[in-house]
Amino acid sequence: MTSPSQLTRVALPLPRIGGAPTPPADMPAAHADGSRALIDRYGRVARDLRVSLTDRCNLRCTYCMPAEGLDWMPTEHTLSDEETIRLIRLGVERLGIRQVRFTGGEPLLRKSLEKIIAATKQLRTDEGVAPTIALTTNGLGLPRRIEALKEAGLDRVNISLDTIDRELYAQLTRRDRIKDVFKAIAAASEAGLHPVKVNAVVMPGVNEDGIVPLARFCLEHGAQLRFIEQMPLGPREKWRRDQLVTADQILDYLREDLELTPAREPRGSAPAELWEVTSHDGTLHGTIGIIASVTHPFCGDCDRTRLTTDGAVRNCLFGNSETSLRDLMRAGATDEELMTAWAGEMWAKLPGHGVNDEGFLQPDRPMSAIGG
Ligand code: SAM
Ligand code: SF4
Repeated sequence: MTSPSQLTRVALPLPRIGGAPTPPADMPAAHADGSRALIDRYGRVARDLRVSLTDRCNLRCTYCMPAEGLDWMPTEHTLSDEETIRLIRLGVERLGIRQVRFTGGEPLLRKSLEKIIAATKQLRTDEGVAPTIALTTNGLGLPRRIEALKEAGLDRVNISLDTIDRELYAQLTRRDRIKDVFKAIAAASEAGLHPVKVNAVVMPGVNEDGIVPLARFCLEHGAQLRFIEQMPLGPREKWRRDQLVTADQILDYLREDLELTPAREPRGSAPAELWEVTSHDGTLHGTIGIIASVTHPFCGDCDRTRLTTDGAVRNCLFGNSETSLRDLMRAGATDEELMTAWAGEMWAKLPGHGVNDEGFLQPDRPMSAIGG
């Protein structure tokens, strides 16, 4: 006989709060099975999904968050593993995503990272292959997990390091952990995750003098360094357009010690402009990238879509528009309804991020809550 609790579960589907959003009238229709490409009005196609797995962090980089941290999201607001995997599955299997990058906050703080990566690696893209899986991390604790992460399917890693000076690193991140980052770079390299990429944000009067030493360090360790222009996403007093260290200035610093020639490989939708470099003394060779998000925006080639820790899809790091797939999911939305909502958010993507416009407004969410 059916028990009363079973009857309730079967007879009463979850209430639909608000219902699925109506797709924009000019958005192309989906295929018969609900699958579609994540395209926008300007013809860009999103293939690269960035998933923020937590807004929390074990560092406090001054350009990213205040010393006391932020108001972390309550756990019940964040996506469960199953919810996260469901959305990644829809992205990869039915919306044309081919690369998934896990970020945060600090993604290594998510205990189930290996499980989520393994589930993602099982999926097949529209080209019939597993998606490429990448991780952006501060590196703390990476060595003891690197083998399991690789086993689960991790293909590539970006490790953040803004200076090789221990004292300055401790000031910048408010934690004396530089040795752990060095170990992380070595471990990723030993695990064969080539090329290991190192991300460095350049800040005026803070680490400009360290540009060449950091470049030499990365070349010596076979890592591909990528300098990032500081973006207006952290504490508001930390960014001034007129004080930005620009990509051109970073190149000038590098030329003091290195011969630079533009890399031959086409850039495509990758944000970094790549340079082949050789030290003037001829001992060091390698590749260095510059990400000029502010002075040379690459919005016209952008192929990204973002999923925040609390289940909102965003079409731009800098935008103020987002759609909560979590709320739809928790109200019982079907896969087709979720895909339509995701596609609608992407369809509305603006042609550019507007950071250089007079009236630019920083997004309400900090970088760590969007996923960098
Ligand atoms: N915690 C991880 C890490 O630090 O790599 C992942 C998240 S973090 C937000 C991702 C990247 O964004 C890091 O390389 C970090 O240096 C960069 N970042 C953070 N705030 C930034 C800003 N205001 N401008 C440019 N890059 C920034
Ligand atoms: Fe944490 Fe990354 Fe932000 Fe630094 S940049 S505080 S490591 S989330």
